Amino acid sequence: MNNAIFTSLMSKLFNKKKPQPTCSECLQSLQLLIDGEATMAEEKYYMKHMDECIPCYEFYSLEKTVKEVIQKKIEKREVPAALVQTIKEKIYLRVE
Ligand SMILES: [Zn+2]
Repeated sequence: MNNAIFTSLMSKLFNKKKPQPTCSECLQSLQLLIDGEATMAEEKYYMKHMDECIPCYEFYSLEKTVKEVIQKKIEKREVPAALVQTIKEKIYLRVE
């Protein structure tokens, strides 16, 4: 399966679940931002977007917090998978 097909398939699945296509697109990009893989232009765009979009801002700040928690746990060499899963579930409940 090539990337273009995979991306369109994923976006179809994603849009089905989330009624706002604009925000579902930016939620995917926010993941890049959190992972530090977004370009400077993307970062600038989504930072501005988050000033006006509460769901995206909440998603970003909560994901960032989770990432920090996971990072700390990895440093301590103890990753409670169940706890991470619980936090993630809470985030997705809030976003949707
Ligand atoms: Zn948004």
